[in-house]
Amino acid sequence: MCDINDSCLKLTVKWNGKEYDIPEFSPSDSVAMLKIAIENATGVRPDRQKLLNVKFQGKVATDNYTLAELNLKPNLKIMMMGSLEEAIQGALARPECGDDVVNDLDLDDEEVDVENQEIYLAKINKRVRDYKINVLNEPRPGKKLLVLDIDYTLFDHRSVAEKGYELMRPFLHEFLASAYVDYDIVIWSATGMKWIEEKMKLLGVATHQNYKIMFYLDYLAMITVHTAKYGTIDVKPLGVIWGKYPQYSSKNTIMFDDIRRNFIMNPKSGLKIRPFRQAHLNRDKDRELVHLSTYLLDIAQYCDDFDTLNHKKWEKYKPDRKSHSASKRKAEDSSPSSHKE
Ligand code: MG
Repeated sequence: MCDINDSCLKLTVKWNGKEYDIPEFSPSDSVAMLKIAIENATGVRPDRQKLLNVKFQGKVATDNYTLAELNLKPNLKIMMMGSLEEAIQGALARPECGDDVVNDLDLDDEEVDVENQEIYLAKINKRVRDYKINVLNEPRPGKKLLVLDIDYTLFDHRSVAEKGYELMRPFLHEFLASAYVDYDIVIWSATGMKWIEEKMKLLGVATHQNYKIMFYLDYLAMITVHTAKYGTIDVKPLGVIWGKYPQYSSKNTIMFDDIRRNFIMNPKSGLKIRPFRQAHLNRDKDRELVHLSTYLLDIAQYCDDFDTLNHKKWEKYKPDRKSHSASKRKAEDSSPSSHKE
């Protein structure tokens, strides 16, 4: 989306004889983001879109280019070819932006270019200012923050099923109900808001009695960054939430995603969940959310500062019950007035 000090690109899309307006873009945004915006306007999935006049050196540009690299003319009318899916089928089986080849790369120790950090902070600040959050349930005092991806994390969006819940990761509702005790919960997906709302309705997450979701974030809250190794990628910076809600920080926030690159701006706060794929084969075996429920409970109870955790080793985490209760007692002894429950 358009950032401060950028020359914003106002683009329209022509498809099936009609013209559609899309949000203004910054030249530093990627083709992948542009395609999600086009999907929001037209309903055509990014992997079905062919943008005929969005080219790099004469060839149709791939998702990882920035708009600046393509030298797009301001007010360009993008000519698009692509077929529409049934809305519900699309919600069940639509891919995330980017393709599986990129998604499967594990950016383990990859970092964003240091020289660009200030640009990224400016982009995050812009999101903090301009991204409108529709709060479904207010934050609760003293709670930690859990940020969850949808596709392959909570839901197998590539398999086909008659009912949405057949593609739901096993124990999803139990997991969310358990986490809700200690955490406010945010869902963040690299898709458009209407897909997120549709999926959460399908899965029964939106209306569940035993937990409440604080809000949803979509691709518009993401930013485009450059990595030396993999080029341009779109990521989910937690700074967008932390800037709007200062009670949350790296000390009390954890994010789950099946793609490590999504938390490249906050590598220490992210936990790479095993992707839930091939729901039909794995529905009876997958216990990832059960084990992660225990981890969330343990760290909420026994860890006062999530910066001290290494989520890569979450399965080996052993809470230090003794020293934690000793230090807690000490803290309570020295300040009897600040009684903790
Ligand atoms: Mg995912």
